[in-house]
Amino acid sequence: MTTVYQSQTAGAAPASKATSDGEGCHARDEMTRAAAAAGKRAVLDGLARDYPQGPHDRPQSMCPAFGSLRVGLRMRRTATVLSGSACCVYGLSFISHFYGARRTVGYVPFSSETLVTGQLYEDIRDAVFELADPERLDAVVVTNLCVPTASGVPIQKLPREINGVRVVPIDVPGFGVPTHAEAKDVLAAAMLRYAREEAEQGPVAAPRGGRSERPTVTLLGEMFPVDPVGINMMLQPMGLAAGPVVPTREWRELYAALDGRVVAALHPFYTGAVREFAEAGRPVVPSAPVGRDGTAAWLDAVGDAAGVPAARITAAKEEVLPAIRAALEKTPIRGRITLSGYEGSELLVARLLVESGAEVPYVATACAATPWSEPDRAWLEARGCEVRYRASLEDDLAAMDAFAPDLAIGTTPVVQAAKERGIAGLYFTNIISARPLMGLAGVGAIAEVVNAALGQAERFGRMRAFFEGVGEGRETGVWPSAPKTLEEVR
Ligand code: SF4
Repeated sequence: MTTVYQSQTAGAAPASKATSDGEGCHARDEMTRAAAAAGKRAVLDGLARDYPQGPHDRPQSMCPAFGSLRVGLRMRRTATVLSGSACCVYGLSFISHFYGARRTVGYVPFSSETLVTGQLYEDIRDAVFELADPERLDAVVVTNLCVPTASGVPIQKLPREINGVRVVPIDVPGFGVPTHAEAKDVLAAAMLRYAREEAEQGPVAAPRGGRSERPTVTLLGEMFPVDPVGINMMLQPMGLAAGPVVPTREWRELYAALDGRVVAALHPFYTGAVREFAEAGRPVVPSAPVGRDGTAAWLDAVGDAAGVPAARITAAKEEVLPAIRAALEKTPIRGRITLSGYEGSELLVARLLVESGAEVPYVATACAATPWSEPDRAWLEARGCEVRYRASLEDDLAAMDAFAPDLAIGTTPVVQAAKERGIAGLYFTNIISARPLMGLAGVGAIAEVVNAALGQAERFGRMRAFFEGVGEGRETGVWPSAPKTLEEVR
């Protein structure tokens, strides 16, 4: 459900062309200029530093703010308030409930008048005060979407806390944060910074289950629930344990995350979060334990960073690597696969596919290159795979045409285009990301779903033959005669 906080002028027309509904998706330059002129230069510079843009730099999927919204909605005792155009908030609350948020999305609407006079900031402030009940909440997250960011609504001036409830203001404009993955980092980093500053001031709450007896490895990146369990088992022979997963599900887990001996940047796009861990003096390890090679390299890197003796690192590897090798041999993948997505874990999945025996000529991600995916890029390129960062839909479609894969794993439009061509397709977000990926569990899980899809290739060919002749593009359908375009009014 969406709760609308006060505004007497909600629903009136927006202030100017630069601040029209929905323009953040398309009018990047104009919105960026407006935001800079309205006092958000420092915010924009920070976003440009953390999420460098180009060659592709505009959202081609859901609104990026969905990433940070989802992170907040999944946390216990945390309220979220959006400030933005009604159409954007409608879309964001719809998609969050589609994905089972079961939590209220707060909304402070605006109008030309409240935007121009500064009343919107007062409305947001009133809403936050109304919400800040320490019996129910640890934190309130306030998010400026495109129009309030472009208009300079100064949410950073909100009180740092109200009645002991932390207030976390973030700007997540689509013209500064290219993907929803990177928007998760905006909120994760803001929360880690807040928690780090609290920890510097004095004692903070212990984890709900008490502190781990073994030094911990903080896991950076949302994962399938089985993955942290498997990682914990792999770390055990080195005398380490899996720590919290960031983004966390509870405020107090942030302190435990900052307290980790090592941070594993399993998902490579958490640039802001990594900066907070570096401020806390924690070493950060790239890549993830995927496949045999990936797991071996990752255990080496984690063990080294944690100061584990070489013999114990070897013991950890001997415990798990033979089983992974055996599983890879038992469940091979045979076929040519192109892979793309906007989750940020695409290179890891590609590694596992290659180790399973698949031919992967192209892997692309909408996220930017960072040092935390560098070992994966190098490993894949050494095996003949073209790796593309900040890839566009057009890049992915061109790759599909160039490489003629047996299976295309990608976003919704990529899968749709694959099916139109009679190629089997799998949705990266709903199918691949919703399975274990790490260690031994990842091997069988990926092979099962990919092999099932590869086995459908012949069926897609039959479907294409069946629908042959029903038209394509704007001529899709069965027409008595082809529709004529009226060029003079088109
Ligand atoms: S808030 Fe999201 S949906 Fe709205 S204009 Fe910005 S990028 Fe587009």
